[in-house]
Amino acid sequence: MKKKEKAVVVFSGGQDSTTCLFWAMERFEEVVAVTFDYNQRHKQEIECAKNIANELGVPHHILDMSLLNQLAPNALTRENIQVKDGENGSLPSTFVPGRNLLFLSFAGVLASQVGAKHIVTGVCETDFSGYPDCRDIFVKSLNVTLNLSMDQDFVIHTPLMWLDKSETWKLADELHAFEFVREKTLTCYNGIIADGCGECPACKLRKNGLEEFLKIRN
Ligand SMILES: [Zn+2]
Repeated sequence: MKKKEKAVVVFSGGQDSTTCLFWAMERFEEVVAVTFDYNQRHKQEIECAKNIANELGVPHHILDMSLLNQLAPNALTRENIQVKDGENGSLPSTFVPGRNLLFLSFAGVLASQVGAKHIVTGVCETDFSGYPDCRDIFVKSLNVTLNLSMDQDFVIHTPLMWLDKSETWKLADELHAFEFVREKTLTCYNGIIADGCGECPACKLRKNGLEEFLKIRN
C-alpha cells in the first residue's frame, strides 16, 4: 500500500540512486527525481538519468550546480586529475567537500517547492570511502536542520545506508528492478553504461557486489 505522499529522490542515474528511485516508487504515490549537473566528466550521466526518469514516467528536475566545479577541482570534473582511491585513509580524488550537504539542502528546497514531505538519498555508510557527509549521523543532523530552516516536517530516507554493494543488488532484485538497474544505470567513471569499463574503482566496486550477489542468488 503506497502512502498518499510525495517524495523527492536525489538521482544521478547510477546503480544506487536508481535503486532508491524504485524503492520510493513502491512506497509513495508521487515521486519526483532531482539530478545535479556539476559538469560531470561525462555528460552521459545526465543523459542516462534523463532516460531512466523518462522510461519510469518520473518527473525529473535537473539543477545546475556547476559552481561546485569552481569550488572544488576534482577528478570527476577535471580531465587532468586521475580518478583513484584514497590511500592511507586519505580522501579519494573524487571528493568534493560538502557535496552531499549541498545536494541534500537543494533537494530540501525543491521538496518544499513541490510539496514533498519525503527526501530519498542513496548515501551509504557501509562502503564509506571518506565522505563525511554520507554518514548516518550527518543525514540525521541535516534532517533536523532542514526542518528548522524551513519550518517543515521532512523525513530523509536512506534505504542503502547500512547495505553493502551485494545487498544493494539484492534490494534492486526484491523491487523487481534487478535487470533494469544492471542494464540501464551508469556508475563507471569512464562513462560506460551497465557493466562499465570494468577497470575503474566504481566498476570494480559494482562488479564485486554483483558477483557476490549472484553467488547467493543462484
Ligand atoms: Zn568503469
